[in-house]
Amino acid sequence: MVSCPGIAAGRLAEDVLDANFQDIRPPLDPLQAKIAADRCLFCWDAPCTRACPTSIDIPLFVRQIATANRLGAARTILEANILGGTCARVCPTETLCEEVCVRVAQEGRPVEIGRLQRFATEAAVEAGVVLFERAPPTGRRVAVVGAGPAGLACAHELARLGHDVTLLEASDRLGGLNETGLAAYKMTNDFAAREVAWLLSIGGITVETGKALGRDVSLYGLSAEYDAVFLGLGLGATNAVGFEDDLAGVADAVEWIAALRSAASLADVPVGTRVVVIGGGMTAIDAASQARRLGADEVTIAYRRGLADMGASDHEKEIARNDGALIRTHLAPRRLIGAEGRVTGVEFERTRVEAGKVVGTGETVTIAADQVLSAIGQTLIVDLLGDGVVGLANGRIAVDAGGRTSNPKIWAGGDCTDAGRDLTVEAVAAGRDAARSIDATLRSAG
Ligand code: SF4
Repeated sequence: MVSCPGIAAGRLAEDVLDANFQDIRPPLDPLQAKIAADRCLFCWDAPCTRACPTSIDIPLFVRQIATANRLGAARTILEANILGGTCARVCPTETLCEEVCVRVAQEGRPVEIGRLQRFATEAAVEAGVVLFERAPPTGRRVAVVGAGPAGLACAHELARLGHDVTLLEASDRLGGLNETGLAAYKMTNDFAAREVAWLLSIGGITVETGKALGRDVSLYGLSAEYDAVFLGLGLGATNAVGFEDDLAGVADAVEWIAALRSAASLADVPVGTRVVVIGGGMTAIDAASQARRLGADEVTIAYRRGLADMGASDHEKEIARNDGALIRTHLAPRRLIGAEGRVTGVEFERTRVEAGKVVGTGETVTIAADQVLSAIGQTLIVDLLGDGVVGLANGRIAVDAGGRTSNPKIWAGGDCTDAGRDLTVEAVAAGRDAARSIDATLRSAG
């Protein structure tokens, strides 16, 4: 194996690492929450609620916080979005509910909806409060494949409606990208795991980890064994940059973040001195910011289009910049540069966008690097689904508004489908709505 002297663990002292990875947006205390809630005008048409993919009744829960009814507020949120705790931490609220808050026009800043949502939901999850009970058993059995946000939301809603759910997860950890794919400073205190444990406490959900579709179970077999199947697979395969060379020091950003999230100590996570992250989405930002926080000297995010085209929100870009990462745009990766089997840089071609397409200009730029993290998106491994069991669109599972696939016994939601914007909150909405569609279908079948 080729050694990479530029990549090392423990660049910073443990107390510095702990400080660097503290909660990026500390929770509100009760007085701060009351002051924040009192800024809400309780608009009759609530543009914030209309902007929320899960349609949380925002003025209602904010009023409940304002009147010291914290658990009532939690119930209002979790009724619409069972993963409202995680979404409060990771939703791009500045482009959803908070963007349209009328306080922006009045005072230049919105009601802090995300932080108020976190204030309410964490109280319920941390106290283990039972907010939902199961309906009488229906005797129907549903398999949910994938324990990410879509699968968990679907499983909970189905269990609540009285169905028996078997939740199949390929890995040994539940939560999907909430557990492994988000920056550690957003998901402090092991919140994702505690939220999942609280969600499962409703009962009626049998969890089977280490069960992968296409390896341990087949879609054909599940649809024969169960009354219905929900697919919340996420996206399995990382898109390849397409470099010809195979050099040490080049890694997939999703895997690198997952290793960081599961490390016993941040001091065990290796990072380069000069890191190049290729991509423009949230994963690129999370990788770049965390590389800096681990002690990388120089971190560059290279993206092939313009700043406005990046998948990451302005808020996320600001986080990366505040962490000292440099964002360079209109750069398309062309080849790795290496020596003695390890990467020493990346050559990019400058680009421009013509009629929506990225076009190379022929001019090249080299950025020195001892670690390269690729974050250019993921694709669905369609072979897992079996030949022709469900219809596809744009390389993902085709679904209608209720999550129905072309197969009458199979539903799907979240990133593995052709609907939505690959946001956690949209995956939750898709899982919940598919559960309701499955319920209606099973009940109408008698
Ligand atoms: Fe409150 Fe803002 Fe929503 Fe109006 S738009 S209800 S002020 S949070």
